[in-house]
Amino acid sequence: MSIQATRMLTPGPTPIPDRIRLAMAEPIPHHRKDVFKQIMAENEDMLKKLFATEMPVIPLSSSGTGAMTAAAFNLFVPGERVLVATAGYFGERWVDIVKSRGLDPVIIRKPYGSSFDPEEIRAALDDDPSICGVFMQISETSTGALHPVKEVSAITRERDVLMIADGISAISISPVFMDEWGIDCLLTGSQKGLMLPPGMSFIALSPRAWEKAEKISQQCYYFDLVAERKKCAERQTHYTSPISLIVGLNEALKMIFEFGLDNVYRKQWALTQMTRAGLTAMGQELFIKEEGRYTWGLTSMALPKGVSAAPIVAKAYKEFGVILTTGQADIKDSVIRVAHMGWVDWGDITAGLHALAMSLPEQPKGAYLEAALEAYRNAL
Ligand SMILES: *Cc1c(COP(=O)(O)O)cnc(C)c1O
Repeated sequence: MSIQATRMLTPGPTPIPDRIRLAMAEPIPHHRKDVFKQIMAENEDMLKKLFATEMPVIPLSSSGTGAMTAAAFNLFVPGERVLVATAGYFGERWVDIVKSRGLDPVIIRKPYGSSFDPEEIRAALDDDPSICGVFMQISETSTGALHPVKEVSAITRERDVLMIADGISAISISPVFMDEWGIDCLLTGSQKGLMLPPGMSFIALSPRAWEKAEKISQQCYYFDLVAERKKCAERQTHYTSPISLIVGLNEALKMIFEFGLDNVYRKQWALTQMTRAGLTAMGQELFIKEEGRYTWGLTSMALPKGVSAAPIVAKAYKEFGVILTTGQADIKDSVIRVAHMGWVDWGDITAGLHALAMSLPEQPKGAYLEAALEAYRNAL
């Protein structure tokens, strides 16, 4: 038995505040009764603000991948040509999902850690006018890279091309403006910036995306967005609702808007600066170096050749109770990710940086915690 706290500095699931856990511990309301409908109505208003959209944000009972699946199956029919821009593990998931829907993907694939140049997406669309959708991550969680979804949306909105954005590690972490940017389909999950347990996802469509979805008769039995939208308007979900999570979501959204969404983004930015400064002062190499190209929800560090991520991460957990993650797929053993999304603050990052430093094969000297805390203060 250890009396040491466990700190999850992981890019999902993320820690859950007591206020949310306690709300979810209450007896559940019945999902067809008015108390529940009132909660759904409040959530709907707040979710629209979070996505920065006038359109309904549909809750689904699934992890984030369910909403990704819903996007591919509700907006496209087999045989349609789409573009997938992938530079990481979650980009590859888009490839798999669009293939599972029988779509014909043009794939722009770059090494893990890359971002895309909007001009290369424009060129690909110019080359092949039969492309009718673009799939991308806003934040590629496997590497920590940010993709230019705002700029790419400015290109797709001028054409008959739908922009589908996986915002799972971006929503309530860094600014995303669905309507203003011209995103046609934006989705997220419950267990990252939203501070909830896993099990729910959220998806919103633009007016032209809904028009297309309405024409597609053979969708997906469980993820039928047209049916869900109808139920959502009645403050319901089509099948039995994940009631506890919806109650928890109400609390999470209230916390976010009481604190202020801009303050959430500011905190996320400051934690990113804190982590980057701490790692740099430790003598470590940042995996994503360029300004403007790194996500605000996690920081990845590149290990020197010959140093393996797994034992470092294992030691940080075993001896310090801090859960860090290695990279994924191509960069599994050469990168360590320190996540700082959701209910994570400067104290957690202080602990995380220290646990990481003490778990490295060669323990760094120098004032990395002071450097980290100073960067945090300056960035806040
Ligand atoms: C976490 C994550 C997913 C996968 O979500 P699940 O909830 O595990 O299905 C997809 N995309 C991104 C960018 C993520 O961060």
